[in-house]
Amino acid sequence: MKELLSGVVVRTGGASYIVECDDGLQVRCRTVSGTVSDNEGESLVAVGDRVKFRPKASGTEMPEGVIDHVARRTSALVRRRDIRRNRSKELEQVIAGNIDQLVVVSSADDPPLNRRLIDRYLAFAESEHLPLLLVVNKSDLADPVRLEEALVTYRALGCTICCVSAARRTGLEELRAHLEGKVSAFSGHSGVGKSTLINLLLGRKELKTARISSRTGKGVHTTSSATMLRLPDGGYVIDTPGIREFNLSGITRENLRFYFTEFLRFMPDCGFSSCSHTVEPGCGVVRALESGEIDPERYESYLVLYESLDE
Ligand code: GDP
Ligand code: ZN
Repeated sequence: MKELLSGVVVRTGGASYIVECDDGLQVRCRTVSGTVSDNEGESLVAVGDRVKFRPKASGTEMPEGVIDHVARRTSALVRRRDIRRNRSKELEQVIAGNIDQLVVVSSADDPPLNRRLIDRYLAFAESEHLPLLLVVNKSDLADPVRLEEALVTYRALGCTICCVSAARRTGLEELRAHLEGKVSAFSGHSGVGKSTLINLLLGRKELKTARISSRTGKGVHTTSSATMLRLPDGGYVIDTPGIREFNLSGITRENLRFYFTEFLRFMPDCGFSSCSHTVEPGCGVVRALESGEIDPERYESYLVLYESLDE
């Protein structure tokens, strides 16, 4: 019997999984009833999983194997499920596992910097204890001073920020340094240049970009499942379908206030210990907002998110 090999799941497709070994060899693997997982109650196999597999003889172009063991995930991005339509205790679907950081790609302009979306990601990253890297692409379209002004709040929050331009190839070295050796889950609003940027990082046209698809008339590429792509300098990029697909059920109206970390120091000034900072009189956060100590845009994002959560 052949010995077990190990690798990482880089793609899922139908009933098989593409597993990549450290040397770059890709193997098409299946699971069997004897496949053992350390992630009880979660999806059996997801992109990003470290697995052990047994290679088997195959006549196909790509080597084949059977997954023997799936290692415990250190983190997981889970797809949102409609609970009402999911009474059958169906497993939560893991979009990607073992992520080291969340990378939010936004654009300085065209489309304009989407602060509501960035704040949503920030709250999500806080709730999941995932580090967040904010990439601001299309910096060529913005006045540098105005752009820095827009980012002051995020710098004050201690956010790691990379301003880049895929078009002018600027800021890419710094971005590469932040990605090296890590598994980074990329997401962002469509049109911000995420695909263009990932292609540049990979050094090849792996993902379809808006320009290509408008030429072929095939419509804009949308990612419905995650794909893991190995970076030339080590580390992986996982292209994810985006936060609208993520399960945000870890965030509630009660705990949201803990994920807007700059609010925390004003909370002791609130009249009520369970103050939601929305309608309560004598709210320390609202006072800080009025005195200019809290960015009104951040407070607005908080209100929008709060309203979007179930009571
Ligand atoms: P995605 O939807 O986020 O994957 O975006 P695409 O990669 O498809 O890019 C959307 C559009 O933005 C395309 O027309 C790109 O050529 C353009 N684009 C990407 N990066 C930049 C940039 O740094 N500057 C400018 N001006 N345009 C860019
Ligand atoms: Zn309050």
